Amino acid sequence: MLARQEGLDTLRARGLRLTRPRRLILDVVRATDAHPTAALVYQRVRRRLPRVSLATVYRNLRVLASEGFLAERADTGGLRFDGNTGPHDHFTCLVCGRIYDVPAGTGPGGRRRVAARTGFEVLDHRTEYYGRCGACRRRGRSPVKGQRRRTHGRSQGH
Ligand SMILES: [Zn+2]
Ligand SMILES: [Zn+2]
Repeated sequence: MLARQEGLDTLRARGLRLTRPRRLILDVVRATDAHPTAALVYQRVRRRLPRVSLATVYRNLRVLASEGFLAERADTGGLRFDGNTGPHDHFTCLVCGRIYDVPAGTGPGGRRRVAARTGFEVLDHRTEYYGRCGACRRRGRSPVKGQRRRTHGRSQGH
């Protein structure tokens, strides 16, 4: 797994062409822990590269993810991109919709237990936490009833 801080030299070493959009896209995703969608990355990249298209941003995100520089995660709000490619789990705030990185929980022990119980070969696992983040708790905000998984757009920027 590649560390978050891995630099552009490594990109070059791996033979990935460093087009300006690709470099910007990587910077944008790594500069936030908000797990942005392609649309949000596009908005931010466009500020510095006004002629870039959403299709270009999307295509480059997928390339960077397939090369291991970014992680992808499918969500109810669509595909999100994660600059943190190390092992970790996620906490989704049911009030503001932000997704936070949290330390990986169950680890290899959990995988072994699942493998032993099912006979499956477990190569990876994901634990998802849901609740109220610290900021929302302090403000006394509660999740909206019937909207348990409000994970779309808007509130993810910061
Ligand atoms: Zn929150
Ligand atoms: Zn993450």
